[in-house]
Amino acid sequence: MNSKENSADGPSQKRRHGYTEQEITRRLIEAIFEQRLPPGERITEAKLAEIFGVSRTVVRASMGKLSEIGVFKKTPNLGYTIAAPSRAEARMMLDVRKMIEPGMVHSIALTRSAEDLERLNHHIATEEAARNAGDRSTLVRLTGEFHLKLAEISGNVYLVHILTQLQVLTCLAILVHAESETGCPRDEHSSIVRAIAVGDGEKAAAKMAHHLSHIADELQLDRPRPEPSLESALQWLGGLGRAS
Ligand SMILES: [Zn+2]
Repeated sequence: MNSKENSADGPSQKRRHGYTEQEITRRLIEAIFEQRLPPGERITEAKLAEIFGVSRTVVRASMGKLSEIGVFKKTPNLGYTIAAPSRAEARMMLDVRKMIEPGMVHSIALTRSAEDLERLNHHIATEEAARNAGDRSTLVRLTGEFHLKLAEISGNVYLVHILTQLQVLTCLAILVHAESETGCPRDEHSSIVRAIAVGDGEKAAAKMAHHLSHIADELQLDRPRPEPSLESALQWLGGLGRAS
């Protein structure tokens, strides 16, 4: 939930004044976290400029940054295609996250302040409220934002950048590959926070590793399902892949 949107300066107010580049980037990331942007679909610069009430130059600056991290792919004359990560790409994302996030929570468990813990507990409470209210879009966004909140608490700006990219792309991969799209499994975030609360770094790391394995399971990365490739399609078309 964004407190700014509850103020007088809400989205409709902003639209009249035009969004800033940073706000556009944030809104697009939120839209992906809420699973509102369908992977593989195209969106034009002109349409985005109209929606946000800004010039195409402002849109281009925001989309340029999001394209650099692979969230959109620039398509000449057509605008941008929303990334649809392959299974192989999703596996690589989860592999990197498994290298980073257990270490991150281990460190947080040893250094966290009372205020950090309060922020995490508050986040868990808002996730739970969204779950109880059946507000699925908010819930999936909040479960994604939990991981970014941890990166923010770590105080490491590089970690925030890397995890923003990985979390956004993981959300898109979930939309493409997962059978259920309900975000992070229930209670796993709270068990990580409980380990952080008692300063047990080893336990927090183990809980995070388990949690990321769970997400990988949802994506069914271990199920053999060949990626379609142009190479094999051309071989098939040429008759090399045919049984008869
Ligand atoms: Zn999670």
